[in-house]
Amino acid sequence: MKCKLCDKKATDTYCELHKRAYCNVIEKYYVWKMAFFEISWYNYLIEVVKNEYSGSRVKEVARDLLSEIE
Ligand SMILES: [Zn+2]
Repeated sequence: MKCKLCDKKATDTYCELHKRAYCNVIEKYYVWKMAFFEISWYNYLIEVVKNEYSGSRVKEVARDLLSEIE
C-alpha cells in the first residue's frame, strides 16, 4: 500500500512522515481552538494551508483533508 500523498510505503492512508504531519495538524487544531475560540475544522485547515510557516507536509495533509470536506 502506498501513501496517499507520496510514493512511500504506508500501512494506513499515509506514510510515517505524513502520519506525523497529520498528528501535528490534529494537535494544533486543539491549540487553535483554545486561542481563537470556535474556529471550525474547515477554517482551520484553510489557515494551515495559507500559513507560510506551515511545513510542506503539513500543508499537503491539510489540503488533502480539505478536499475530503469540499
Ligand atoms: Zn507520504
